[in-house]
Amino acid sequence: MNGGWGAGSHGRHLGRKAAWKLFREFISPATFQELFAAPPPLRLVVEQQLGSLADRAIKLKLKTDDGQSIECVVLLPTGKPGHPTRRATACVSSQIGCAVGCPFCATGMMGWKGNLNADQIWEQVYWAGLLAAQSGRRLRNVVFMGMGEPLHNRQHVLAAIERLLDGRRGFGLAPRHITLSTVGVPRGMIELAQRFPGVRQAVSLHAAIPEMRRRLVPKAVGDLETLRETIAQINRLQDQATVWLEMVLLEGINDDDHHVDALIAFCAGLRVSVNLIPYNTLPGHELWQPTPQPRREAIANRLRSAGIRTTIRTSFGRDLQAACGQLSGLHAASSPPSASARPAHTLPWLP
Ligand code: SAH
Ligand code: SF4
Repeated sequence: MNGGWGAGSHGRHLGRKAAWKLFREFISPATFQELFAAPPPLRLVVEQQLGSLADRAIKLKLKTDDGQSIECVVLLPTGKPGHPTRRATACVSSQIGCAVGCPFCATGMMGWKGNLNADQIWEQVYWAGLLAAQSGRRLRNVVFMGMGEPLHNRQHVLAAIERLLDGRRGFGLAPRHITLSTVGVPRGMIELAQRFPGVRQAVSLHAAIPEMRRRLVPKAVGDLETLRETIAQINRLQDQATVWLEMVLLEGINDDDHHVDALIAFCAGLRVSVNLIPYNTLPGHELWQPTPQPRREAIANRLRSAGIRTTIRTSFGRDLQAACGQLSGLHAASSPPSASARPAHTLPWLP
C-alpha cells in the first residue's frame, strides 16, 4: 500500500489562501472544482450516494482499486432553532472491517479485511468536501468514526491527518476540527497527541467495569487502569482539550447505577467529557435494545451532578444504515436502505 504523498501526486497544490477560502467561506461546487482543478489521481471510485431524508446525512459507497467497498458519511446538520448552520462533517473510515470485534457494531461483525492507505483516507474527505459544496455547505469537521479502529492503522491515519491539516497540499483544517475515535490504543493515542496536540481524541469506553468492558470491547489492549493513565498523559500533552469518553448505551447491559458509579469513578481527576450514544439497532441483531430516552437523560443528569460534562449524541443517517456502528460494506450490500432513502446529488466525476 502507498502511504506517501509524493511531490505533485495530487495535481495542483492549494495555496494557503485558497485553502482558507475553501473552509472559511461558503463555497460553490464550481469553486471547489477550481481549487482542485486537477483532481488528485483518484484511487476511490464513488459507487453510490444515498441521501437520508430523515437525518440529513449522505452515505457514500466507495470502491478501492482492489475492489473492496468502504463507506464514508457526510453529515449535514440543520443547526439549532434560530441558528441554522452551513457546515458539514465527514465521518471517514480507516479500515475495511475491524479486528476489535465489538458485538454491537456492524463493522466489528465483518472482522478485519484490510487497512486503508493515507490516500484512500484523504480521498474520502475530498469527496465529502465536494458533496458538501454541492449541498451549499462547507466541510468543517472530520471525524474518524467510520469503519475500523484508526489506531490499528496508525501510520496511514497519521499521514492522512497531516495532509488534512496542511493548507498547501491538503485542506488546511484546524486541528480541533478533527476528532479521532479509538477503543484506546495507548501507544497510538500518545503518538497522536505528541504529533498533533490539537486533534481531539475520543475513547470508546462503553463500560468502566472490567468484565463488561472486556465483553463489549473484546480486543482492546490493556486494562482500564492503563487506559486511565493514558488519558491522564493525553490531558498533559493537550493542555486544554477534553478527551471524550463514548458510551453506547445498551438497555440492561451497561446502563444501571452500578455502571454509572464506575464511570464517575473512572472520570475522577481526568479532563474528560462523556458522550452518551443511543445504540443503533442492527437488522438481524435485535437481541439488544437502546437504553430508553428517559433513562439516558437520568444518566446524563447524574453525571452532570457529579461535575462531568455530558452530552447525548444525536444520531444521523439511521434510515440509511449510515449511523455509528451501522457501516459495513457487506451489510450495506445485502440490505438496501429503507424507502426514505433517495439518491443524493450526482457527483461531477461519478462514472
Ligand atoms: N473504532 C473506533 C471508531 C469507529 S466506531 C471506535 O470504536 O471508537 C465510532 C463509534 O461508533 C464508537 O464510539 C462506537 O462505539 C460507536 N458504535 C459502534 N456500533 C454502534 C451502534 N450499533 N450504535 C451506536 N454506536 C455504535
Ligand atoms: Fe471496531 Fe469501533 Fe466497531 Fe468496535 S466499535 S468493532 S472498534 S469499528
